[in-house]
Amino acid sequence: MRLAIAQINLTALADNLAQVRKFAPKSKVMAVLKANAYGHGLVKIAQHLNDADAFAVARIDEALALRAGGLTKPIVLLEGFFHQDDLPILLANNFQTIIHDENQLKALEEASLDEPISCWLKINTGMHRLGIAPAQLNDFYQRLQATSNAKDTINLMTHFSCADDLQDPKTAAQIALFDSLVQGKQQAHCLSNSAGIIAWPAGHGEWVRPGLMMYGVSPMLNATGKEHGLKPVMRLTTKVIAIRDVDAQQCVGYGGRWQSTKATKLAVVAMGYGDGYPRHAKQGTPVVIGSKRYPIAGSVSMDMISVDIGENTAGIKVGDEVEMWGPKLPVEEVAQCATTIPYELLCNITPRVSYEYLE
Ligand SMILES: *Cc1c(COP(=O)(O)O)cnc(C)c1O
Repeated sequence: MRLAIAQINLTALADNLAQVRKFAPKSKVMAVLKANAYGHGLVKIAQHLNDADAFAVARIDEALALRAGGLTKPIVLLEGFFHQDDLPILLANNFQTIIHDENQLKALEEASLDEPISCWLKINTGMHRLGIAPAQLNDFYQRLQATSNAKDTINLMTHFSCADDLQDPKTAAQIALFDSLVQGKQQAHCLSNSAGIIAWPAGHGEWVRPGLMMYGVSPMLNATGKEHGLKPVMRLTTKVIAIRDVDAQQCVGYGGRWQSTKATKLAVVAMGYGDGYPRHAKQGTPVVIGSKRYPIAGSVSMDMISVDIGENTAGIKVGDEVEMWGPKLPVEEVAQCATTIPYELLCNITPRVSYEYLE
């Protein structure tokens, strides 16, 4: 019997991609599959995103894994390439690259390639992570047009830093700056991550880059995917492996961080930080058994968590399934309980967890 299982709902995935298209009906979709498709399984997820126009990943190895898996769509490398030796690999595999700094541009200019590479010029409009400064744009643009190693169509990209917060004026400022910079440059523009797609229609452009929302999860502050018509793709489950009695005033788990106030029963569930469940989930973080929520009691250990199911066990028995997050318990909520973001919880699933793909 398998214990920790990530059930992946492929119908929900397809529905969420359709929802991306509803939010941004005029844009093409570059489906973001980095970090093992946010912990959902890179190749499997890609195989079920036939409706996407392209894929995007962070690193070359991720893109090569997609090709090894038989995927043929264009793939955009969101961090670009790192070394001139990477360029023939890009060419041979139909990878498109971001150009975000002088080193990359120089390597591209100096390479001797049989054919030009498709490039996205990334402009920093306020994120201050990757991207050229606005003042460098014309120089970079002209040099890319001049080199025979870059395709004539030079696409333009930027990335939002605060789009998850509707109250933050920064996103509108980033869109306005980008629009002013790219005026007169007819090539494809791409600005929006999931939060941009959901909340900032002025930033949709010819292409959008949805990640988190495709997996049914909200990128917005204090929201869940359901509010945007999204369905959770991952349901993380395990089983009850023991039910124990504790008396009043017993300290449970490592460090004795939780103490029973009265006699109760604890269900021990087979899930811990060794599966990717957050060790920092606070006391009382919910799990779902049957259709009811129960609070975790004590520290999350590597392989197990104790759950307070109350004096009369509510019919819970060994072998019962436990939902750690999924349709009955949004991962957004668990992330809040662990003072992190749902992105991190999804990416942190470890290889010990089995995957089941449901059509
Ligand atoms: C990860 C990433 C995305 C997708 O972001 P989500 O918030 O998951 O939609 C888009 N663009 C870039 C550059 C990224 O790194």
